[in-house]
Amino acid sequence: MLTELRRDSWTIANTGARNLLTVLSQEIDSSIGSYDRVLQGVVTKLQDPAFLELNPQLQQSLLFGSTLIRPYFTSLLILDKDGNVVRDAGGLPPRTDNFADRAYFQAHAKNALLGLYISTPFQRRLTGDDDVLGLSRRIDAPDGTFAGVAVATLRLQYFRDLFDQTELKAHDSINLFSQSGTLLMRSPYLEDQIGRDLSQSPNIRRFMASESGTFSGVAAVDGITRVYNFVRIGNLPLILNIALAHEDIFEAWRTQALGIGGVLTVLCAFTLLLAYVVRREFVQRARAEAVTRRSEAQYRLLAENATDLIIRLDRDLIRRYVSPASHAMLGLDPAELVGKRTRGVIHPDDWPTVEKMVAEAKVTGKPAEAIYRLQHKSGAYVWVEGRYSFVAEDEGFIVVLRDISIRKSAEMKLAVAHAELAKQANTDGLTGLANRRRFDEVLEAEHKKAQQDNKALSLLLIDVDRFKLFNDTYGHQAGDACLRRVAEAIEACTRPSDLCARYGGEEIVVLLPGSDEAAADMVGERIRLAVENLAIPHKENESAGQRVTISVGCATQAPGSEDAALELVAQADRRLYEAKRTGRNRVLSASSMPVAAEPPRLVTEPARLEAVETALDTVRQKGSNNLDLIARSAAELLDAPIGFVTLVGKDELTLIGRHGINVSTVPRQIAFCSHTIAGSEPMVVYDALDDERFRKNPLAQGDEGLRFYAGAPLVDPESGETLGAVCVSDTKPHGDMSAADRDILKNLSKLVMDELR
Ligand code: GH3
Ligand code: MG
Ligand code: MG
Repeated sequence: MLTELRRDSWTIANTGARNLLTVLSQEIDSSIGSYDRVLQGVVTKLQDPAFLELNPQLQQSLLFGSTLIRPYFTSLLILDKDGNVVRDAGGLPPRTDNFADRAYFQAHAKNALLGLYISTPFQRRLTGDDDVLGLSRRIDAPDGTFAGVAVATLRLQYFRDLFDQTELKAHDSINLFSQSGTLLMRSPYLEDQIGRDLSQSPNIRRFMASESGTFSGVAAVDGITRVYNFVRIGNLPLILNIALAHEDIFEAWRTQALGIGGVLTVLCAFTLLLAYVVRREFVQRARAEAVTRRSEAQYRLLAENATDLIIRLDRDLIRRYVSPASHAMLGLDPAELVGKRTRGVIHPDDWPTVEKMVAEAKVTGKPAEAIYRLQHKSGAYVWVEGRYSFVAEDEGFIVVLRDISIRKSAEMKLAVAHAELAKQANTDGLTGLANRRRFDEVLEAEHKKAQQDNKALSLLLIDVDRFKLFNDTYGHQAGDACLRRVAEAIEACTRPSDLCARYGGEEIVVLLPGSDEAAADMVGERIRLAVENLAIPHKENESAGQRVTISVGCATQAPGSEDAALELVAQADRRLYEAKRTGRNRVLSASSMPVAAEPPRLVTEPARLEAVETALDTVRQKGSNNLDLIARSAAELLDAPIGFVTLVGKDELTLIGRHGINVSTVPRQIAFCSHTIAGSEPMVVYDALDDERFRKNPLAQGDEGLRFYAGAPLVDPESGETLGAVCVSDTKPHGDMSAADRDILKNLSKLVMDELR
């Protein structure tokens, strides 16, 4: 664009210069042409012989009447062949002067075909103040010889005024040269240069070489580089040129160029800056991309090679990415899973779990975990542990699934093993019933539950009759087998909610939650019968038909009772003991206990009464001192205030030895000993008011009533009849009596029998 502009500036300037050149040269040509025509007119007249015939005045007026054109065409002289002034447009007579020395005169004299001659500038001789050009033409004699010259002057001021009308730039100039290289006029005007012969300067030589043209060169006048447009004016020996200083031509362009250059520079600078910034950005981006690519490659490597299945879910739980581990885990290619809903392969039963976890993870924003099943391509289910991490940006999830089938099956096996172990820990090895440990736990729990729910709780304590003898007779292994069958029979008689446990040795306990006294008694009886019906031979169990039998003690805790759990066992134990004591193969519960109104009837009563009579006779003979001593010993040894020895007659019993009591007979109906004689083992009543048989007994009533009683039957070693008892008693209830205490009573009973012999 700048080049274009520069070229335009050049073209415009030169076009302008040429136009101006044309205008100026035409103006000069036409002006000088009209002056020349005046000169030609004068010459023509002077060569006409008829004209010369006219009187001098007329000649003067015809020749010069209107020739002088002011202000530039100022004088016209006619010279004769010797150069003398013969006529003068300025008036008559002509001035006296000779111009034979002038170049134009000599030129015309020599050359008849010269035509118009234009001289170098000179000062007019007459006025001397103004530079002029001489315009001259030769005057021929009728024979063609030289007859003189007509010469006029043109003031250089003409050119000056003409040139001054043009507007030039500071270093531009218009020059008018003669054909010989003399500077005729210049604009701007430089007085000392006018008339200078510059024919030797290279520029002028070029002017002189052709009619017109354009070239650049250094001015001889002021050394400034200019472009010269020149033209020869018409057929005149004048060369006009307009010199434009390069400096001026390109001034506007330079300003523009500077402006554009400045803008371009700024733009370039800005572009460079931008390029720098962009480049830096690109470099950074490339670097970041490289880092991203590297880490992406790492992540991909991790995801692709992890044995865990990695899944990306969108907000609608549609899989967007599935790692190749899907193949190993589910037998499916990632492509088969991508774009589908996650629910598809989840076990229908587990979906609610997963849905809940997803909702939870969404709410909390924290990773959530769940264990569930996914369907393998084969149709089987795979246990997985799924970890769902919520991605807040797109509300999707990153899911990591781990195959835990192996762990899960191990866990299941372990759970089975645990259950087995727990069962073993709670099971009795011989009978397969619950063991004592389990029983203690369940008792505690059921006891608490019964109290909370205000329900009854019953317990049966079962003991095999004369089992020691069974072992002795049939051997221990048979004993074990027998125990197993008995345990089976017992369990068969109970409900699933009941608990059968081996309490110890050949004792089995049955816990009956919710069963009242009557129900417990019934179950006890059913069990007893079941065992009896097993009909396992037991030679030594004579009284029960030589079969294996059991004795059962029942205890029931009424709804709302606050008794401790162990009290239930103790109560059952006492009843079991009583059942054993009173004949075995029987169930003893609160309701089945013989009441005071009906003391046990003994089968062998007449024989027994006979023996009692005999014993009474012996006492009458021997006295009762030793028996009192035995009674006292019993009281002291068993830590009771009362001790006594009795013989049980038909309607009353007689105290044959006494300590701490002053009664001699008691009605048989109400006596404790009436019950003692029903068995061969000692009978213990810890608290009469707590025992159905004696609760309403008159002996037990009031502050002085007997609450505690323990008596060992007096067994006749020969007949086996029970005659009476050695007893201790207290107005306060006692706690448990040990086996040793019972043995003491039993030994004392033997002492009594010795005494009665
Ligand atoms: P009773 O109960 O009728 O008064 O007479 P008993 O002979 O059964 O007397 P006790 O209950 O005191 O005797 C328990 C016997 O049971 C002692 C032991 O020989 C036997 N016994 C205990 N545990 C086992 C066992 O696991 N296997 C076998 N074979 N016998 C046992
Ligand atoms: Mg036992
Ligand atoms: Mg037993």
